[in-house]
Amino acid sequence: MPVESGVEPIIQKIQIYEPDADFELIDRAFSYAQMAHSGQTRISGEPYIIHPVEVALILADIEMDTATICAALLHDVVEDTSITYLNVLAEFGEEIALLVEGVTKLNRIDFQSREEAQAENLRKMFLAMAKDIRVILIKLADRLHNMRTLNYQSEVKQKEIARETMEIFAPLAHRLGIFRFKWELEDLAFAYLNSDMYYEIAKRLKQKRREREDYVHELIEQIKSGLEQIGIKADIAGRPKNIYSIYRKMIKQGKDIDEIYDKIAIRVIVNEVPECYGVLGIVHTMWRPLPGRFKDYIATPKYNMYQSLHTTVLGKGGEPFEVQIRTWEMHSSSEYGIAAHWRYKEESSLRKRILMRSWPGCGRCWNGSRK
Ligand code: MN
Repeated sequence: MPVESGVEPIIQKIQIYEPDADFELIDRAFSYAQMAHSGQTRISGEPYIIHPVEVALILADIEMDTATICAALLHDVVEDTSITYLNVLAEFGEEIALLVEGVTKLNRIDFQSREEAQAENLRKMFLAMAKDIRVILIKLADRLHNMRTLNYQSEVKQKEIARETMEIFAPLAHRLGIFRFKWELEDLAFAYLNSDMYYEIAKRLKQKRREREDYVHELIEQIKSGLEQIGIKADIAGRPKNIYSIYRKMIKQGKDIDEIYDKIAIRVIVNEVPECYGVLGIVHTMWRPLPGRFKDYIATPKYNMYQSLHTTVLGKGGEPFEVQIRTWEMHSSSEYGIAAHWRYKEESSLRKRILMRSWPGCGRCWNGSRK
């Protein structure tokens, strides 16, 4: 992973979704944080500023507003340097100062001393303590970057942090509907908690990767031509499921990985809700649906507001695969969850392309290389 420590990559990302953002303010927050952390290093030996910059980049990936980006850059200054809340308030105003203070307060919760059974209470407390939900988003991005760099910690610490991630942070991301955070947090934590199983699944998935990619490509072409006949324009892509969810399925169904067939999902994205049902009709005429697997989360959204149509159909050789059908609006809110609240409604073609690239089974997980 290339590590950037300047402010430029952050600015470049924001320019795509918010061209009139206050870049001068972001630049100032960066310089302030850089000065405050100067001389500090992370366990990896790198300059500390890399961490807040990476956290800000993760939040720019979900297109967060300027105040959140600035607070992300400053999120550790009150905790780890001589800078106080009042200094941040004087320099950056109340909105940013309160976000930084909120993150600082959450850091004081001691997860380790509690019983596992209390995880749910902890999650509730966490949500209640952060009056502004953006505080939680910064905390999740902070955890995500710490998980990505966990290999520098001692083995005991790795297990401790990974368990906390699995029990508190991944479920929080799920509750807030930010699936791209949830999946990556789960897979990273799983890699430390049950590394033998993680690398075994990753290896087995990799072995058949080529084959699977060809098959996905074929399915996409078939759906495309079916949709052309009824005049529906759609963006279609295949995605691998994340490693932890495959593992959970193996446990739940008591099966070996080779017996888990719907390891892939095809995602079809259209402009309007009625088109979703049109796509479903076409898919069901092309392949036989598996009974009991059709879910209409458009008519009845999940509690975290997730919306899509899900169906599992029998493909070549009787191998089932899942199809998820949704509008662009539903797609953006399922990728970004509660963070979608800060997004523009209209998707430019560039932003659509970025959204389509963001399959949860991230490259890191598929490569499955041991650190
Ligand atoms: Mn941090």
